[in-house]
Amino acid sequence: MQYQSTRGHNAAVSASEAIVRGLAPDGGLYVPQEFPRADLEAWRGLDYPQLAAEVLALYLTDYDPAFLQDAAQSTYTAPFAGKAGRVVPVAPGLHALELWHGPTCAFKDYALQLMPKLLVQAKRNLGRTEKTRILVATSGDTGKAALAGYAGLDGIEIAVFYPNDGTSEIQRLQMVTQAGDNVAVYAVNGNFDDAQSGVKRVFGDAEAAAELAGRGICLSSANSINWGRLAPQIVYYFYAYFRLVESGAVAWGQQVDFCVPTGNFGDILAGYYAKRMGLPMGKLICASNKNNVLADFIRTGTYDKRREFYKTASPSMDILISSNLERLLYHLTGDAARVAGWMAELAEKGCYSVDAETLTRLQESFGCGWADDAQAAAMIRRRWEEDRYLCDPHTAVAFCVAEEQRGTAPVTVLSTASPFKFPRDVLAALGAGVPDSDFAAMEALTAATGSPAPESLRCLQQLPVRFRESLDPAAIRAAALR
Ligand SMILES: *Cc1c(COP(=O)(O)O)cnc(C)c1O
Repeated sequence: MQYQSTRGHNAAVSASEAIVRGLAPDGGLYVPQEFPRADLEAWRGLDYPQLAAEVLALYLTDYDPAFLQDAAQSTYTAPFAGKAGRVVPVAPGLHALELWHGPTCAFKDYALQLMPKLLVQAKRNLGRTEKTRILVATSGDTGKAALAGYAGLDGIEIAVFYPNDGTSEIQRLQMVTQAGDNVAVYAVNGNFDDAQSGVKRVFGDAEAAAELAGRGICLSSANSINWGRLAPQIVYYFYAYFRLVESGAVAWGQQVDFCVPTGNFGDILAGYYAKRMGLPMGKLICASNKNNVLADFIRTGTYDKRREFYKTASPSMDILISSNLERLLYHLTGDAARVAGWMAELAEKGCYSVDAETLTRLQESFGCGWADDAQAAAMIRRRWEEDRYLCDPHTAVAFCVAEEQRGTAPVTVLSTASPFKFPRDVLAALGAGVPDSDFAAMEALTAATGSPAPESLRCLQQLPVRFRESLDPAAIRAAALR
């Protein structure tokens, strides 16, 4: 399998090359040149690591299959406590695919626990011996998931920049207590945009690259535009479908809708790959919060980022430029020149409109909707009171949209974070008193619901804080070059 840029101006590359590079040289994203066929009959009986190795082998064709099997085994067994791809019934015709049983309690673990191993092996496949330094700007979940994935790996260093006061207390402690000799964590005096712009400037800084190259270091990014982050997410759509069939909730071959809480469009796009590979899927329903630029796009065909940015209770979906949408536009049109044109319009004017034919294609596969914080909070309470199902604010947005948009097919909502990552918001939604500290709130949430808090979150209170440095955005470059 070869990969080409969504903007089309470069020669095709191998999977290893796409993973080492991240972004294509023309600024586009790497996409596979075809959709491999799923072997549903052969796959339905596999456990999660076996299935992951099968799916990945179809895409990462220059990797040794034995390596993929080992990597999938070590990634998806112990770190997920045997609960990788867990599906739970919530109400008639409604299931939750719980993706938060990994080490950092958010779905990003599925990609970020595996992708570091894929990167190390990609460098071996290509005979590259330089050190790789990963820079990450994060609003919370990505930073910790990346730290946990890259800590202790040979030939890799990682530096994470988070906005001072921009994350929850738990998210901050998850990062500043990270163990490992190859990790660094910095608080940036500013908001997420300040951190992200500072890191993006370093990536575009030729002098910085030359200085690092002189020291044998190459910069790389861990964010979701990398093919190595997208590919592992295709697996759980298949796995969930097989579990629905196994439990009798769905007949073999019957279509299922999936509703996905969406920000950067990575998770839901992985579902589209599963559909194109042959998984019986009806609609992929894109759920947005009040930052509803994607819901508007899927409804109207016009993508317009020129709008107010809201900080919501589902911060991982607070995003106005959804990078992975570019990949979908490429697959819908097969026309790199048109995609490049739309992306140029987005950069220059802040908006673009697709043609009627592309919009029709888009709407054949995707539904959409959005919910604000009050609706999501009401949904957290109703799910708990009616179904005894406890969910986090991101998942609650998807439950709202699934309810509004569902047709006749059974719906599976992707549950993307543990409710204990946002204990104060969840408690407030349940109508309980909210203590000041996140840890007291975790205990109160356990007392109110009988659900235990994940040990990896509870133990944060006892771990030593290793990183206390805060810096101004202008100092990000110097920190990245240390
Ligand atoms: C990152 C994240 C999302 C959004 O996923 P995308 O792939 O960016 O669309 C949703 N929920 C949670 C909890 C997340 O961490």
